[in-house]
Amino acid sequence: AKSRGRGTFVHFEPQLQQDADDRVRLEHDLRQALKRNEFEVHYQPVVSATTQAVMGFEALLRWRHPERGLISPAVFIPIAEDTGLIADIGEWTLRQACKHASQWPQHVHVAVNVSPRQLILPALPNAVSDALAAARLQPSRLELEVTESVFLSDTDGSLDVLRRVRSIGVGIALDDFGTGYSSLGYLNKTIFHALKIDGSFVRDAAKRSETVSIIHAIVALANSFRMSITAEGVETVADFERMRELGCHRIQGYLFGRPVPFEETLALVGQRFEY
Ligand code: C2E
Ligand code: CA
Ligand code: CA
Ligand code: CA
Repeated sequence: AKSRGRGTFVHFEPQLQQDADDRVRLEHDLRQALKRNEFEVHYQPVVSATTQAVMGFEALLRWRHPERGLISPAVFIPIAEDTGLIADIGEWTLRQACKHASQWPQHVHVAVNVSPRQLILPALPNAVSDALAAARLQPSRLELEVTESVFLSDTDGSLDVLRRVRSIGVGIALDDFGTGYSSLGYLNKTIFHALKIDGSFVRDAAKRSETVSIIHAIVALANSFRMSITAEGVETVADFERMRELGCHRIQGYLFGRPVPFEETLALVGQRFEY
C-alpha cells in the first residue's frame, strides 16, 4: 500500500505542488495588497425594470496585482476568507463604496457584498455606521448583499448581526437566489428587504419553461413579503423582457453594463436605457 501511495503521490505531485505554491504566493501578496493600495471598487449599474433608469450600483472588488494584472474576486475572496483578511478588506470596501455613493444623486443607492466570515464579526454593525458617518451617506442608500450560506453556519450570530445592521436603516438583499440550497424558508422578511435571482437561473429561463415557473413562484412570494426583486446576469433584450414580464423590479447584467471604475459611473447616473 505504501509504494502504491507513493506512486500516486508522484503522479499528482507536480500540479498539486504548483497550485499550492501559487496559493502561498497569492496569500502572501494579499497580505500586502491593502497597504499597497492595490484594490479598486468597480460598479455595475442596476436599472429599474419599468423606467430603465439607473437606480443604483453593485460594488464589485478588484485586485490590481503588480505582476498578474486584474485578479478576479472569485479567486482572492476565498483566500481572504480563509486567512481572516476579509475583515479589513471588507471594511475598506464598505468605506470606499459609501464615499463614492455620496457623490451620486440622492436616489442612487449602492450595494456591497458581505462574506459569511464578516457576519460573525460583532463589530460589523459599527463598521457600517462608521463608514456611513465618514461619507455622510444616508443609511437607506446602502444595501448589503449576503448569500444564503449565512444560514449554514453560526446562524444565530449572523442573523443577529444582520438584524442590527437593518436597525441602522441599511437594507439587506439575499444574493444568488436560485442556486445552492435555496429554500423559500430563507425569505425572512424581518431580515431581507430584497432578493436577487441568480444570473444562471435568469439565463436558464430562456431554455426551460420549468425555470420560468419557478421564477414566477419566487416573485409571487417575494411580492407578498413586499421585497424588491432583482434579476441578475441579464445579457440579452429577451432576458430583460422576460424578467420584466415576470415582475422583477430591478435588472442587472451585461445588457445594461459591465462593472466599471467609479469615474465612469458619473456618466451613467442620469442615464435611461432604451430597448
Ligand atoms: P456576485 O455578488 O453574484 O456578483 C455578480 C457577478 O456576476 C460579478 O462577478 C459580475 O461582474 C458578474 N456579472 C454581472 N452581470 C453579468 C452578466 O450579465 N453575465 C455574466 N455572466 N456575469 C455577470 P465578479 O465581479 O467577478 O464577482 C464575483 C463574485 O465575487 C461576486 O458574485 C461576489 O460573490 C464576490 N465579490 C465581489 N466583490 C466582493 C466584495 O467586495 N466582497 C465580497 N465578500 N465578495 C465580493
Ligand atoms: Ca452580489
Ligand atoms: Ca449574485
Ligand atoms: Ca455569486
